[in-house]
Amino acid sequence: MITRPEFYISGQWVAPLAGRDYQVINPSTEEPCATISLGGQADTDAAVAAAKAAFPAWATSDPAERHALCERILAQYHARVEDLAQAISLEMGSPIDKAREDQAPCLPWHLENFLMAFKEIQFIRPLGPHAPNDRIALEPIGTVGLITPWNWPMNQVALKVIPALLAGCTVVLKPSEQAPLSSMIFAEFVHAAGAPAGVFNLVNGDGPGVGSQLSTHPDVEMISFTGSTRAGKAISKAASETLKRVTLELGGKGANLVFADADPNAVRRGVLHCFDNTGQSCNAPTRMLVERSFYDQAVEIARQVAEAQKVGRSDQAGDHIGPVVNKIQWDNIQRLIEVGIKEGARLVAGGLGRPEGLNKGYFVRPTVFADVKPGMTIEKEEIFGPVLSMIPFDTEEEAVRIANDTVYGLANYVQSEDGARRNRLARQLRAGMVQMNGMGRGRGSPFGGVKSSGRAREGGVWGIEEFLEVKAISGWAAE
Ligand code: NAD
Repeated sequence: MITRPEFYISGQWVAPLAGRDYQVINPSTEEPCATISLGGQADTDAAVAAAKAAFPAWATSDPAERHALCERILAQYHARVEDLAQAISLEMGSPIDKAREDQAPCLPWHLENFLMAFKEIQFIRPLGPHAPNDRIALEPIGTVGLITPWNWPMNQVALKVIPALLAGCTVVLKPSEQAPLSSMIFAEFVHAAGAPAGVFNLVNGDGPGVGSQLSTHPDVEMISFTGSTRAGKAISKAASETLKRVTLELGGKGANLVFADADPNAVRRGVLHCFDNTGQSCNAPTRMLVERSFYDQAVEIARQVAEAQKVGRSDQAGDHIGPVVNKIQWDNIQRLIEVGIKEGARLVAGGLGRPEGLNKGYFVRPTVFADVKPGMTIEKEEIFGPVLSMIPFDTEEEAVRIANDTVYGLANYVQSEDGARRNRLARQLRAGMVQMNGMGRGRGSPFGGVKSSGRAREGGVWGIEEFLEVKAISGWAAE
């Protein structure tokens, strides 16, 4: 049992001022695995004050100094990657091999991409040849509050902390109370890397506590949030009084358009992608739209893939999927599977209850519904579990209409060997990202959505620019 009540404020681990104990639950066993503290107003205030005090010097530091700090954080990661993977696996249920191979490596992946993008940022540049005495300066926005979820804990921390620090902002990180352990290890990396006191601070807490205290704090200039659409709305409202910048990465209901001419592996790839991380990814392709001539075959492939999908504990080696994060998520997934059945979707694999042989832990049966109709609850709502909805379509236009008829707009997918069709669809799908034929997005490509998926862009040059303000200057003396 891990006991870590301290917060990281002004360069040191400090006892909470207004904390209360909170137990982190291991989702594989339903047993507590750690006790942390949830902070209160006094803790939030102390962290924000430390960040505010550190801002003037950090904001005007040499960009090379900020670059060097991030390189030293990267070196810490390489020295302690196993600790990070173990923490992620324990707190949110990622099978340990996945935690080592996918979850923890999000940190070096994003960090290296940001260091590459950082070279592109011109902190001061001419407006243009027509205005020789004008300059455009990019300046850090100030002290920022970073609020992250549990599903890809190090991914979100890397996507927020690294660009904020590179931009010259000072930060208060509030990780998810469900998965705080990896962030505390990350704070150790930042400390060992020698960050100046106050530049990076971490306060654990929940949404109504530290989350809303940061969102309303007069000395916090910006909130960068990843999590549910519900919390995103609450934060936007809370932040409006102080007119902060708010950037939101929210939920999704990704459509995967599979045409009859798709490559032979397309359906299998799509099902596995939906189940990846036990379905707990905002960009998961959870609605598989299949061209009717190929539909029955696709449903059969999906059934076989789902039935072959292994499920197991997070501490076991292997390529199985783990439990979902907690009882609330488990109950909600069960409710939605039940609604799917009641509303008349055809259950072809999985269903209610735990997989065979797993009597404890938040394990869900990999589930496939066929004949899902547009407008059904399971077609509209984000389920955040390993549950796929399959929908037939007759024409390209119909597929686009179904794909776009959602409040979300994060990531959509297309599978077709017809290049002209792919390029056409890439422009017609309303989403922040379109990924086709299983090709991942390149280094530095921005992650983010439209509509209720939030409108932030994280990663690459765009991810750093989120933390910068544009200043227009005239009368600049010739150099
Ligand atoms: P959540 O919104 O409940 O919690 C996310 C974070 O926000 C946590 O740190 C939580 O403590 C905090 N929080 C909750 N209510 C708050 C409030 N009123 N004010 C301030 N902070 C608050 O979400 P979750 O259950 O942890 O994560 C799952 C959701 O996140 C899913 O909907 C998923 O799609 C979404 N998500 C989106 C992305 C993306 O990049 N678009 C990435 C990961 C997860």
